[in-house]
Formats: sequence, structure tokens, C-alpha cells
Amino acid sequence: MDFLLTTEQKLLINSIHEFCVKNIDPNWVKIDDEGKFPSNTVKELARLGVHGGVLSEEFGGSDMSFLDVALVQEELSSHDPTLVTAGVMGLSNSWPYIVQLYGSSDAKSELLPKITSGDAVLGIASTEAQGGTDLAGIQRVQARKIDENKWLIEGEKSIVSGGVLIDSMPWGGGWFLLARTAPLETRHKGLTNFIIYRKRDGEIISNVNYSRYKHMGRHALDSDILTIEKAEVEDKYRVGGVNDGFRVAVEGFNLGRTFIGGSILGGVKWLINQGLQWIKERKLFGQSLASYQGISFELAKIYEELEAARLLVYKAAWLADRYYKHKDPTIKPIDIGVAGATAKTKATEVALKASEEIMQWFGGMAYFTELPVFRALLGAFAYIQGAEGAPKALRDLIARSLVEGRVKIE
Ligand SMILES: Cc1cc2nc3c(=O)[nH]c(=O)nc-3n(C[C@H](O)[C@H](O)[C@H](O)COP(=O)(O)OP(=O)(O)OC[C@H]3O[C@@H](n4cnc5c(N)ncnc54)[C@H](O)[C@@H]3O)c2cc1C
Repeated sequence: MDFLLTTEQKLLINSIHEFCVKNIDPNWVKIDDEGKFPSNTVKELARLGVHGGVLSEEFGGSDMSFLDVALVQEELSSHDPTLVTAGVMGLSNSWPYIVQLYGSSDAKSELLPKITSGDAVLGIASTEAQGGTDLAGIQRVQARKIDENKWLIEGEKSIVSGGVLIDSMPWGGGWFLLARTAPLETRHKGLTNFIIYRKRDGEIISNVNYSRYKHMGRHALDSDILTIEKAEVEDKYRVGGVNDGFRVAVEGFNLGRTFIGGSILGGVKWLINQGLQWIKERKLFGQSLASYQGISFELAKIYEELEAARLLVYKAAWLADRYYKHKDPTIKPIDIGVAGATAKTKATEVALKASEEIMQWFGGMAYFTELPVFRALLGAFAYIQGAEGAPKALRDLIARSLVEGRVKIE
């Protein structure tokens, strides 16, 4: 077992670090306040080879490993602790990768090069109002085949992210959409996935609309209600087999959770660095705050937890690499699923504990928006509340996999 990063990985992190120092550090608070992610940052991430970086060179990608993506996400969030910059990059690696695996050659050659060039983004549209956790119960977006080559899709998704971002992209993009294609009783065996565009080749699709929610944090990546009114979608935009959508989408969530784990690690690092600097400088009763064990032991605990979460994230990414990139027959998707769920659950808990504790070190000023610490708390909170799977639902997945013997404690 080797815990060292390779020279290439160190160089990659270094190039992202330099980009962040120049472009993210001076701007992230303003961007969070303005609530709009700059499309030129997507372009810059593409120029660095990391937007859609896991995609193959055939589509303009860098064939990055999943571990590399997690490392880049970690670095991005240690500069933008709202987790938005890393979140955008995570979306552009998980769902496009699933399109690369299961999409038609026409759809792949149309969309994927636009992702890797930073001209398009692809989000995920699964959550419906009856309960996002119950994927197999998806029913409000229905797709019906109307001829050999076309589907009619209509309905509503109650939470999707990225409508404003998609509109701001030069080419556009849309969502990886889960739709019901067989009666509700068939549950997970009656779902099919599609690419649903909101903007394609610079043109807005008028019957795919969204209305934006007001966020409590993570403002620069919008979340919306998505309404699809009788959209005719060509069969080439179907991703995976008819009624096989659940199995395929789960693979995307597994990757998404692993990447999000990386983002959250970066946010915690940002918090620790802010807190560390402060407790060394702040003097109370003639001594630095760092000299009091009531503070320093909490610092040590947060560090321990961060290191534990980091190992879980890296392991989940490593498993994904073994399965997808090295075709290791001993790894199964459920292994990545449980590892990704474990990593994301642990990382979100660490972020919550770290922000609660570190905000206290700053005293009363941390309550006011003049200090940016609360933005890290609210960024991580998006993932506590549910984005890419809420912790309780992920624990249910972990527990069921153990009880049913689908994963073993080795
Ligand atoms: C900022 C943000 C961005 C988002 N972006 C997107 C997006 O881009 N695309 C998208 O499709 N969705 C998105 N979501 C929605 C997210 O995926 C859902 O919130 C999540 O799946 C949970 O669904 P729900 O909110 O309907 O809660 P519910 O499914 O109703 O769950 C409610 C609570 O019950 C818990 N729970 C579920 N099952 C169990 C169980 N067996 N035992 C105990 N507790 C359980 C859940 O963990 C949760 O805490 C986003 C959410 C947020 C907060």
C-alpha cells in the first residue's frame, strides 16, 4: 500500500493551486454574493484539462483517473469552500462519464467534446416531489415512445441544479434525466435515462424550463424546479437500455458521491487553515487561543477526522479506478457504491463538526457575514440536506448492503 502521490499528481494539484490563487481566492466571496458562477471559470477548468477530465481523449478529455478528479476537487474547495467550483467540476465528470459509457455514439460525439472544451455542462435531474431518496418511485417525469426514433417527455423535477449555469454556457447543455417508462409498479425496472437539453448549440429549448430557488448558501450554483412540457426527444439521447435506467444512474451517483467527498475535504482544509491562523494570533488572558487545550484538542480531533475521511474518499476513488479504468474483475459497482456512500457521509459529518467548532473560535464576529467562515458551513450543508444523497439515506444503503451480505467486512 502506497500513500504517496505520484509526481504527476503533485504537478496537477500544483497547477490547480496556482489557478486558484490567481482566479478563485480574490473572487469566490463576491461570486457567492452575486449568485452566478462565471462561465469563463468553466472554460479555464477545461483549459487545465479537468472539466470532463475523466473522459477519453477521443472526446477531448484527459483520461484522468477518478483519484485525480477527487484530488482536484479537494484543491478547488480548499480555495472556494462554498464547494461550488468543485461541484461544477464534479458534475462535469460524473454524468458525462456515464454518457461516455452508455450513450449513443451520436450523442457522445455531439455533447462530450463541448463539455471538455468548457462550452457545455451536464447536470442531474432525478429528484421528484414525492421523495428524492426513493429513486425507484420516480413517476412525475414520464417518457413515452411516439415513433421508432422519438420519445415524448413531460413532467416536473422538484430539485435540479444548474439551469442558470447551463444558460450561461456558450453551447449550453442540460441534464441527465431519469424518467418513468413503465408502470409505477415495476419500480426500479421501469426507468430510462435521457439527455434532456435546456440549451443546445446556443439555442434555448423553449419547452424545458426552470424556476430558481432562493438558497441559504452555495449561492453561485443555482438549484431549480425543472418543468418539461411535451418535449420530443430523439432516441439517440437515451442513455442505456430502455427500463435499465436505475442501474445505470446508480453508477453516476456512486461517482458523484466520491467526487463530492473530495470537495468536502477541501472545504474542511480551508476551515482548518482559517481557524489555525486565528487561534495562533488571537490572544486572550495573555495567551494565544491555541495554547488552551479546550481549543487545541478540538483542532486535533478535527484533523484526525479529516485524515480518516480523506482515506475513505481516496479509497472510493481508487476502487472506481480499479473497476472502470483497469477493468479489475474483483471489484463490483456495489463496492464503489458503499465506499462512495461511506466517504460522503463521513466527509459531510466532519465538515459539520469542523464548521461548528471553528466558528466558535472566531467568537461573535463569525455570526456576521463580514467573516466568510459561515459560507463553508452552508456549502457543506447542501450535502447534509441531500445533494447527491442525504446521509441518512446513504447510511441505509450501507447498512442494507451489509445486512444482505452484498459487501463484507474484510
Ligand atoms: C443544494 C442541493 C442541490 C441539489 N441538486 C440536485 C440536482 O442537481 N439534481 C437532483 O436530482 N437532485 C438534487 N438535489 C436533491 C437531492 O438529491 C435530494 O434532496 C435528496 O435525494 C433527498 O431527497 P428529498 O429532499 O426529497 O428528501 P426525502 O427523500 O424525502 O428524504 C427525507 C429525509 O429522509 C431520510 N431518509 C431517506 N431514506 C431513509 C431511510 N431508509 N431511513 C432513514 N432516513 C431516511 C433522508 O436521508 C432525508 O434526510 C439537491 C439538493 C440540494 C439540497
